[in-house]
Order: sequence, then C-alpha cells, then structure tokens
Amino acid sequence: MAKHIFVTGGVVSSLGKGLTTAAVGLLLKRMGLKVKLQKLDPYINVDPGTMNPYEHGEVYVTEDGAETDLDLGHYERFTGDYVSRHSNYTTGQIYQTVIQKERRGDFLGKTVQVVPHIVDEIKRCILALADDETDVVITEIGGTVGDIESLPFLEAIRQLRYDLHSRNCLYMHLTLVPYIKAAGEIKTKPTQQSVGELRRIGIQPDVLIVRTEKHLTDDHKKKMALFCNVDRDAVIEEKDVEHSIYEVPLMLIEQGLDQLVAERLSLPVGRPRIRDWIDMVEVVKHPKHRVRIAVAGKYIQHQDAYKSVYEALKHAGIAHKTEVELLPIEAEDFEKRNGLKRFNKDKPHGILVPGGFGQRGTEGKVAAIRFARENRIPYFGLCLGMQLAVIEFGRNVCGLDSATSSEFDPKSAQCVIDLMPDQREIAQKGGTMRLGAYPCALRDGTKARAAYAAEQVSERHRHRYEFNNQYREQYEHRGMIFSGLSPDGRLVEIVELADHPWFLAVQFHPEFKSTPIQPHPLFRDFIGAALQYAKDHQDAALPADKKEERVG
Ligand code: GLN
Repeated sequence: MAKHIFVTGGVVSSLGKGLTTAAVGLLLKRMGLKVKLQKLDPYINVDPGTMNPYEHGEVYVTEDGAETDLDLGHYERFTGDYVSRHSNYTTGQIYQTVIQKERRGDFLGKTVQVVPHIVDEIKRCILALADDETDVVITEIGGTVGDIESLPFLEAIRQLRYDLHSRNCLYMHLTLVPYIKAAGEIKTKPTQQSVGELRRIGIQPDVLIVRTEKHLTDDHKKKMALFCNVDRDAVIEEKDVEHSIYEVPLMLIEQGLDQLVAERLSLPVGRPRIRDWIDMVEVVKHPKHRVRIAVAGKYIQHQDAYKSVYEALKHAGIAHKTEVELLPIEAEDFEKRNGLKRFNKDKPHGILVPGGFGQRGTEGKVAAIRFARENRIPYFGLCLGMQLAVIEFGRNVCGLDSATSSEFDPKSAQCVIDLMPDQREIAQKGGTMRLGAYPCALRDGTKARAAYAAEQVSERHRHRYEFNNQYREQYEHRGMIFSGLSPDGRLVEIVELADHPWFLAVQFHPEFKSTPIQPHPLFRDFIGAALQYAKDHQDAALPADKKEERVG
C-alpha cells in the first residue's frame, strides 16, 4: 500500500513549497522508491490555462496535454519523471466533477455539501495516484494555512490519516522564520502560530521545514520543537540557497530528512544515491565560462512567467560548464527602439524569444529576431518565437512586406502563420489548442537532427496557429530549412537558417523536457553556439570575482 506525504505551507506564500516538494520527491526516488507528486490548488479556475502569467506565472504543459501549475515543472525537473493531468487538481475541477455527478443523479436525493461530498472528491483524487506500483504519493496543498479556500483540502488530508492509519501518512509543514533587522534576531513566533492554526483544524505536523535567511541555532530549533509539538530532529532548516535551487535536496539530506521520512513511514530503504546530482551542483557553483542570453518577452517583469525557459537555459549552461546570465528584455521596449540600444550596450551572445499569445510586444520581438539574424548572433525561438521568426524572414528576406499571423490580423493577405483548415473549424466552435506531446520527424543533415541524434522525437505543444504551407517553397528557396515536420509532413515543427551560425526555432516547447541532469539537446546546442560566439568575440570570461571564488 502506498504511503502519503502531505506538504502544507504557513506564514506567507512564495516560500518555495513546490521546490521543497520536488526535492523530497528526488530524495525518495533516489532511495529506490516509486514516487508520485501532486499539487492541489485552492483557486476556482478549472486550470491555470486562462490565467494571465502576471497572476499565475508560467502555465506548465504535461505530456498528456494538461495546462497545469508551474510547480509540476519543478517535480519533473527534480525527479526526472513525467507527471500527468492527475497531478494537478483545482477547486474548480473538484466542484465541476461533483456538480456533474449531482446532475447525473449520483447522490440519490441527498443534499450535496462541502463535507462530505467535496472533501470525498478531493480524497478520491489523492488516492487515485496511489496505485499498486507506487510507494509514496507526495501531495502539496497550494495556498497558505489559514486561507478560507484551502480548508476543504486540509480537511481531506486530515481525514486521510484516519482512513489510512497514521503509520502511512506524514505531514510536512513549510514555514518562514523571518529575520528582524532592527532586533538583529530571527523570530519563531509566526511558525508557532501557523502550526497552531493547523492543529486547530486537527492536523499535527510531523516535520517542520523552516525557510530562513540566517542559520538557525540549536535553541531556535528546540524552541520550535517544543512549542510546535514536533521532535527536535524533525525541525529542518531550509536556508536561502547561494547558487542554485538544485542545492535544496543536498541541504535536506545533510540534516537527515531522508532517513527521518524513511523511519516515520517505515520504508525499508538506504541512503539516496545522488552522486550525479552532487557533481551537477558542483558545476553550477564553479563555472568556467559565462554567456549572456537576452530573453525578449511580454511578461518579463514576472519572475515566474518564463520559469521553465530560464531553468532550461541554466541546464544547458551546466552541459558547457557555463554560467548563463539572463538579460530579460521587455519586448515593448524594442518597439520604442531603446531595445536595440540596450543590445548594443549589453552585447548578448544569444537571443531567445519564448512563447506567447496576442499581438502586444510582437513587433519588438520581430526587431530582436532581425537583429540576431543580421548580426549572426545565435537565435532560439520557442512557439510564438518560431512564428515571429517566420514573419521576420517573410518580411525582410522573402519580400512579403505585410507578412503576419492570422492571430494578429485575420484579414491580412499574407498570413504566413495561420490556422490549419481543420483547426479553423474547431476554432469556430469555441477554439481549442494543440496541447501535449506530438511526434516530430527530423530531416537529415540539419542542426536539429545533429542536436537530437535521432530520426524522430516527441515534444510538447501549446498553440493554435501553424506555419502556412502555401509559403513553404518560397521560404525554402530563400534559405529557410524545414528541419522538423510532423511525421505526415503536414505541420512545420522546426525551422532553421542555412546561412547563419545557429538560428533555430521550434513550434513546440522544449523547455518543458529539460532537466539539470539531462539538459535539452536544442537548449544545449543553443548555449554551445552562444559560447562559441562569446569566445569568437573574446567575451566568454567570467568576471574577476567568480574566478577568485574558483581558485579559492
Ligand atoms: N499564440 C501562438 C499560437 O497560439 C503561439 C502560442 C505559444 O507561443 N505558446 O499559436
């Protein structure tokens, strides 16, 4: 029977609960266990697909095409295992299912209520992951303890300990110990209060994971153990990392969290095998080179809007022992021309345009792409970043002056990016997207084929529009190579330029499949090309302080 770990958060949001959950997942997996991870989100949206990235950060797409919370990206990057749509439920989905059941008459004349019906549905979703092959299910509860909307989720996990027996369940609570500058002290009171709040609703945490800026002393740990009613060795410090989020699992192992969990849940396992992880973190700490990559997007100010893209760039850096410095560029700045000024000043070694929706900022991105093409700077386009590369090439190389996408101007006579005829029908009926994993056949002798070293690959999609096949010949004639197509040849998946050191753009989202242990091949080669560019311009050296750190 599968064991369960429930992760809750207290004091404030944004403590890195998703990261911690992912790190615990990694530890257990590396101890030889089959682990499944899941996030329960208290908001009412059925999924985050319709939310603005400013509200929610990136929408993470799974293999099976679900639009989910970005924490699932951490789960995959840490454990290296794919999650599915069953790894993310929202209040909206839970209510939708219960209401559908009610309409079907499943409740036989009963009054449908939060307790038991909503809570039972939540429990069903948690238990659905606990199949025969799974040793441990880790369930992260979104939001902060004390929020009104997380109550049904907390009630569900409280009941599960009763249903499944306490030896099969473990509650992990993540809190913050703030440092009060004026007093020169860290304070444990918010942690005590947040645990108090959990206990009021019947949950006694077994493990406290304490986020902190400064090291905790033994006294702090004793105090929290005493007042929160947990064992002294179950107060685990999670200090702000110095270099990378990938240090978190190592920090937890150092304090014996792996053994603590194994003991509490009676899991017959040894120490985690993480040599490769330790080596990877060493590379992150001691890079040999540095490259600057400009990312031109629309939601640049929101740290989490391009989470997987930033992580994939860092992974690719690891493959080259290279630190990747990100230069976030607000695409609209380009439209006002100060973007180009910034490029001339910051001198990026590579330019990336990520995915996006809507017209705002697109002219700025087109200008950035043109700059990369004309100055022979490595360019990598993702989804919208491919569509805009096609538009730029149409306008400035193929003489299609008003080349555009029907997303921006449906009436234009030069929609080089358009809906496929069958998609048009679907779109008229309410619009749906190509979501999740699709195969892509690679053409021999191309950069894409060399990167993947495979004839066919599978990548995740989240888009509506495609390359308009009417223009294929014209583009090919002018030097665009269609290096990846759907196996039936109908859909363009990857384009690259013949006459450019590294200009490649994809209709899919490779960032979702990159991990620090296995950097994505296209990201890896993009950073490789950027490093080559930097070396050619005598600009790949690390700043002096980094070098000293390495020597020391
Ligand atoms: N807006 C474009 C489309 O729907 C691109 C989507 C994306 O970049 N994810 O096709």
